[in-house]
Amino acid sequence: MGVNLVVPVVSDYKGQLFNKEPMIQFLLEKGYTKKPEFAHINTLKDLVELDIKLDGDTLRCELASAKYDRTSAAIPKFAYIVPCGCTMTKSPLIQLIAPAKGGEFTTTKCPICNQEFSSRDVIDIDPDEQELEKLEVRIKSLATDGLTHSLKPRKKRKSTTEKPAKRLKSNSKKP
Ligand SMILES: [Zn+2]
Repeated sequence: MGVNLVVPVVSDYKGQLFNKEPMIQFLLEKGYTKKPEFAHINTLKDLVELDIKLDGDTLRCELASAKYDRTSAAIPKFAYIVPCGCTMTKSPLIQLIAPAKGGEFTTTKCPICNQEFSSRDVIDIDPDEQELEKLEVRIKSLATDGLTHSLKPRKKRKSTTEKPAKRLKSNSKKP
């Protein structure tokens, strides 16, 4: 997890954490045009504000009722939920998620705030390679559905307004 993290904290679809204030500055300055590694962060919709229990280097998980030292190598995996942003240790969260049938995503209520979420929308913080692959698949499928990481709709492009198909002229012969 990134250094010098102070609440409020936001995260992108890759589970990277950022302090919110510098990220807003970054967006205002269109930093994504200069830094290819952040090209996926164009609006606040590409970020989710986390409900993270962070106090100095102490990270608390309400679900596991445990405290961890964020700088320790022994810290368990954390994850957060979109759209609510509730952040908790991953393993007890995964156990709460209804098992998928036939590859479908399932809906579960957030154990912290009770808001419903899809099993698709659990984001690993600091993911390993395999987890990152899944996050990439997720963001591609969201893009196909016209959604951003935060599940808010992408801006519609004006150029995509379709003209209705021309009707055949009705001077065809009557039967
Ligand atoms: Zn929640």
